Amino acid sequence: MKYVIIGNSAAGTAAAETIRQQDPHGEIIMLSRDTNFYSRCQLHLVASGQRSPEQANFLPADWAQRYGVDLQLGRSVSEIDMARRLVRCEDGEQFAYNRLLLTTGSRSALPPVQGMDGPGVYGLRHMADAEQLRQVYRNQRHIVIIGAGLVGCELAEALVEVGHPSVSLVEMSPYPLPLQLEEVTGRRLGHMMQQHGINLYCGDGVTQVERNTDGTPAAVHLKSGKRLPADLIVAAAGVRANTELLTRLGAECNRGLIIDEGCRTSLPDIFAAGDVTECRDVTLDRVMSSAIWPAARKQGRVAGTNMAGGKASLQEHTGLRASVSLFGTSMVSVGAVFSPDPAWQKQIYDRTDSRGRLCSKICYSDSKGVLKAAILWGDISQAGLYGEAVLKRCQLGDLDPGDLPDYLMQAVV
Ligand SMILES: Cc1cc2nc3c(=O)[nH]c(=O)nc-3n(C[C@H](O)[C@H](O)[C@H](O)COP(=O)(O)OP(=O)(O)OC[C@H]3O[C@@H](n4cnc5c(N)ncnc54)[C@H](O)[C@@H]3O)c2cc1C
Repeated sequence: MKYVIIGNSAAGTAAAETIRQQDPHGEIIMLSRDTNFYSRCQLHLVASGQRSPEQANFLPADWAQRYGVDLQLGRSVSEIDMARRLVRCEDGEQFAYNRLLLTTGSRSALPPVQGMDGPGVYGLRHMADAEQLRQVYRNQRHIVIIGAGLVGCELAEALVEVGHPSVSLVEMSPYPLPLQLEEVTGRRLGHMMQQHGINLYCGDGVTQVERNTDGTPAAVHLKSGKRLPADLIVAAAGVRANTELLTRLGAECNRGLIIDEGCRTSLPDIFAAGDVTECRDVTLDRVMSSAIWPAARKQGRVAGTNMAGGKASLQEHTGLRASVSLFGTSMVSVGAVFSPDPAWQKQIYDRTDSRGRLCSKICYSDSKGVLKAAILWGDISQAGLYGEAVLKRCQLGDLDPGDLPDYLMQAVV
């Protein structure tokens, strides 16, 4: 059996490991545009200079050898010939497959704003982006980051931590991390970021990038009429899935490639996993993308198992499960906290821990008392329990603010 995997990141490597466990003799070829293994979750630290590119590596040096993978790095795939079951690279080399897996992830998308396209504007998605940023940011007086999602917040934190004097963060929503936090915790995070020196502009958006006569950025203009000086701009406000290799073959696709519970695309013997996909999310019961590292790993394992002839399913899969730590405060969010059903009840439990720090639990439950979404702030020791309770649709009854009832004993709807 010949397996070809495109991509060597979270999903692709998890798939290769799983295939090898099930099929000791099959040929596994891994083709990737990247020239190394690295965790994208570390890129903000590489950009700020707190980590070297080598420290962002997430696999041992002998990984390919250990799993018997024919690793072809620096190879960009340009075409898939489904009739002849061939994968073609830009350099003309081609590889035959019996089963193919696409884990091509996504790329940064620049906001469609006048003046955005041009020098001095960066994304943060690839190691090359992080290395470029690291080289240039120290000589730039004013940095503006667009988008206070996970990437924008983590990068802003990293840059002020290394002492950059002027870091501004612009976010359309009324508070940072709008997909992970709700109003109380979101505004609290905003306050914390400002206290640490980040200039935060929430509920506002960039309408124009003003440029100097030499083409370099001079400022960004906001909807509110403000003008922020900007020598360097990082766009962290959106991504676009790299679906093109399969959409041009007619694969079912929304914003990502649609996969079933077994990570199969709509094309024969072609699987997909990770950020490039969309699948059913159990917390919202609808098809959506799940652009987080653990979801990509899980999908990679499911795809790998099924490619090698085993049976695995994405049951209880969610991409709405984020864990982040900013300025020493840990936060975990599970479920659709960003779009609570108006019928859901919201309960907030605050306490201070032994070091006097504020810890909060925010729980959303439906009319039957089923936990639909939760945020843990400060103390995340029960993140696993709350995560499972949301996934398993546990009925929590009278929720004890100090402790979660034995959720496994509760009725599962
Ligand atoms: C700055 C940053 C911070 C993040 N922080 C977190 C975090 O804290 N927690 C979290 O859970 N997630 C985080 N994420 C998201 C996480 O990194 C992704 O969910 C994860 O990397 C997805 O893995 P993947 O395998 O699907 O794709 P990717 O990691 O995007 O990898 C895509 C792979 O496909 C290859 N490829 C693409 N096109 C081609 C082609 N045509 N030919 C050959 N190869 C190709 C690339 O070389 C690459 O190897 C972060 C992401 C970024 C960018």
